[in-house]
Amino acid sequence: MKYYPPKFQAKAFTCPLCNVYSKMSWYEWRVRFEGTQIERAICQHCGESSYWFGTDQSDLSGKLLSPLVSGVPLPLPDMPDEVKTDYLEARGVLPHSSKAAAALFRLALQRLCIYLGKKPKNR
Ligand SMILES: [Zn+2]
Repeated sequence: MKYYPPKFQAKAFTCPLCNVYSKMSWYEWRVRFEGTQIERAICQHCGESSYWFGTDQSDLSGKLLSPLVSGVPLPLPDMPDEVKTDYLEARGVLPHSSKAAAALFRLALQRLCIYLGKKPKNR
């Protein structure tokens, strides 16, 4: 299954809540605190909502507010379990720390190399 990362105001993408490619319905919200504009996308498959910063939020405009997702695809079904654990952790931590995610992706790659019988170099 192809992964379409969540994208602001896109008509469809892979839902960050149910992981199904689905049409999205967009609604504008106004939050009282400092007039922050939040836009809500409702998944037509699961009915759950994701929340995005609206176009009037200069540096945050169009960024996903909730749920926090990295946009990294889910692992392929044939990924070895010992690699999958680190991969999923890296995927989950990416919105919080790109450096932590990079370290975990590197570890996952090292484990994959070992699994495939190739000795990874330490640099
Ligand atoms: Zn959904």
